[in-house]
Formats: sequence, structure tokens, C-alpha cells
Amino acid sequence: MSESLSGEQVVDLDDAHVFHSWSAQANRNPIAIEKAAGSYFWDYDGKRYLDFSSQLVNLNLGHQHPTMVEAIKRQAEILCTVAPPIANAARSELARRISEVAPAALNKVFFTNGGAEANENAVRLARLHTGRQKVMAAYRSYHGATAGAIALTGDPRRWPNEPGVGSTVRYWGPYPYRSAFHSDSPEQETERALQHLRDLIAFEGPQTIAAIVLETVVGTNGILVPTDGYLAGVRELCNEHGIVMIADEVMSGFGRCGEWFAVDHWGVEPDLITFAKGINSGYVPLGGVVISDEIAATFATRPFPGGLTYSGHPLACATGIASMDIFVEENVLDGVRSLATDVFAPGLAELADKHPSVGEVRGLGAFWALELVKDKQTREPLVPYNASGADAAPMGAFAKACKDGGLFPFVHFNRTHVVPPCTITPAEAKEGLAILDEALSTAD
Ligand code: PLP
Repeated sequence: MSESLSGEQVVDLDDAHVFHSWSAQANRNPIAIEKAAGSYFWDYDGKRYLDFSSQLVNLNLGHQHPTMVEAIKRQAEILCTVAPPIANAARSELARRISEVAPAALNKVFFTNGGAEANENAVRLARLHTGRQKVMAAYRSYHGATAGAIALTGDPRRWPNEPGVGSTVRYWGPYPYRSAFHSDSPEQETERALQHLRDLIAFEGPQTIAAIVLETVVGTNGILVPTDGYLAGVRELCNEHGIVMIADEVMSGFGRCGEWFAVDHWGVEPDLITFAKGINSGYVPLGGVVISDEIAATFATRPFPGGLTYSGHPLACATGIASMDIFVEENVLDGVRSLATDVFAPGLAELADKHPSVGEVRGLGAFWALELVKDKQTREPLVPYNASGADAAPMGAFAKACKDGGLFPFVHFNRTHVVPPCTITPAEAKEGLAILDEALSTAD
């Protein structure tokens, strides 16, 4: 809101001087948000929306949580900015708190401003630790939009002409995942995917590979929950060949999967975990890498060349601490597990039974996706990938129906994600599923 020369209040929403990335250009559901609270936000016409997107899956504690807002105010009054070589209490405490909930051998935290930087730094840690260069990353992954993180991102539909960096090897093999309709046995899928990885490691040369980077649960590319045994298999291969296992938990961490870190679900300990988003629900930009004792020891005698002006920013760390307090005080992890079993798993299965346009349901915790199809048998997507104009119309109509009904889902290609705040109440979650039910009729 600004004031015109005549003194009139002007709301400027045209973004005329904002340079957008592709996600805003491809936005099928343009909207401008004036204010928000809990699981809802309001546009400038006063229309209320239930937030089933968590604003790019980061708002795990919902909008305008009073404890978070208070933490920002309190920290702002004490200390707003400090250079990283100088200690500040918020940074020390948040690092200690994160290492307390991380897998046992991960006890040091390097702070960044977000997820892409966290992944960039994790790769650098792995390369310096091993003295090797190659990094393997998975097909259907997303690791961020900076140069190195995009090179890890394995999605030819999103970055068709990106050359990447020569030392990144994409793991183009099958990704084993569970779905309501998948007919293969999960054991077979796990073994097939691990064999592919074994073959690729052998082909590339195990002694040349610094790290394998994977999203513990794939987020942006469709909420793919790995089959049991897959992550443990990757861990074993990494152990066998001295490869650093990097789990990207930027989306899947801090409550989204009903655990502090999604790896806890399978009891697997990576060497490095990257985080962002859910650590403080994006109230102030924050991310980081949790580092194993073994890798941290490498840098006891040599410097880590990774300086960021805002690493460990006091405002960001204060919100991280407040967020971890809320997780405990409001029992958020248990709440997410109950939402999954009582509301999302049965509710989404019901939608899949009822609507011919729902081809697949995948997810866990508060992290779900519905794949929309033209035909359930052939699984032909509702719209082709990267469709535009008339080809994309059915997804546009679906997104509009959600919006008209007061629901804001995260719609991407031919999927709609159900990724509300982890603190959504069961009644609000059911309200969202009912709007989704209506909207899906436009796609059937
Ligand atoms: N890694 C994953 C798994 C993500 O989902 C994202 C963002 O969506 C990123 C990394 C990049 O995070 P950021 O946008 O904070 O750089």
C-alpha cells in the first residue's frame, strides 16, 4: 500500500517492475494476498482462502503464528544483524537444538539463507571431504535454482536446456515409490532401483563419486515416498564406496512428514542433511546443513571456504528457536501423524475412488499429491507436461474451481498437492477436501 500524490491510498499489485522467474509466469492461479492467519489468507477483495499450498510448502506452522511474530519483535529489539565470524546467542542455541533432534552422529550446523545454498554447501563439504568431484543426483528431483543446485535438479521438463555442470551425474533410473495404485511389488521396485544405482556407480567409477544427493521424500516433482528399504540400500552403497550421502530435507523436514527429519521414518542416518523452509516456516529466510562428526572433523584442521554474510542471522535463528518450541509445545509431529491416518489417507483415497480424473494418490504426513489423468486405466495425464494455452485448459479450470471454492492448492503440471500447514485442524483439513471434491468434478 502506498500513497499517491493526491494523498489517496493506492494498492499496487501489477508487479510491473518485478522480474519473475518461470513459476510466477506459469502461475495458473494468480492471486494477491493482503493478510493471513493460521491456515487461511485473504485477498484484496476480502475473499478468504484455505491454504493447501503452505506457500511453496514452507509454512509448516501456518500464517502469523503469534509466537513467531513475537520472536521476531523480541529479537529485533535486541540485535538485528551480526557478521558470521562473531557469535550470537540465537545462532548457538538454534544449532544446539537442531543437533539434538538430528540423527545421533550429526552434531554441527552450517547456516545458509535457504535451500539452494544449503545444497550448494553440502556438495562442497562432500567434495572437500572426499577429494572427489562427481555428484550423483536423482531423476525427478528438485534441489534449488542457483547454478549448482539446478545442476543437481533432475527434471528435463523444468530445465530442458540447462547444461548443468560437467561433474554432476544425474541418476536417470527408476525411482521406487509407493502409491495407492502401483501394481509392482515394493520389494521388486526397491531392488530394481538399487541395482540401477549400483550399475551407475560401477560405470562412473566408485572412487570418483563424492556424493549422492537425494530428497528423502521427493517434493516438487510429485511427492514420491520411497519404498521401504530404498534409503537403507543407498546408505549401504555409500558406506561401501566411501560416498557421502546427502539427504535434502528442505521440503520433507521439520514436521512435513510427521518427524523432525523424514529420514527418521526409515531410521536412516545420512552424512549431511540440508534443511530450510519448515525450520522456521519461512518467516525470515533460513536454511542450513547438518553435518556428521566425521565430516566436521575434516574441517578441524583446514578451513571450509563457504562464507555467507547472513549465515546464522539472528532474526532468522530466533524464529527457528521459536518454531522448534512450538513444535514441542503444540505437539505438532503427533498432530501431523494423526492428520495423515485420520483425514488425508482415507479422505484422499475416497476422492480417488469417486473421481475418474484422480489417477494416483501419494504421500505421508501433511505431504500429499493427486495425479490428475484423462483415463485411469492408461494413466494418460490430464494435460501434457509443459502444456500451455488450450492444452492446459483442464488444469486451469480445475485451479479456478478450487479458487472459486475458497481453496488455494499447490497446482503443478498435472498434479495438485495437498500440503497445508502442519498445524491445520482436522475440521479445516476436511473442509479443504470437500472443496477439492467439488473442484475435481471439472476434471472428470
Ligand atoms: N530442495 C528442495 C527439496 C526444495 O523443495 C527446494 C525448494 O522448493 C529447494 C531445495 C530450494 O530451496 P530455496 O528455494 O529455499 O533455495
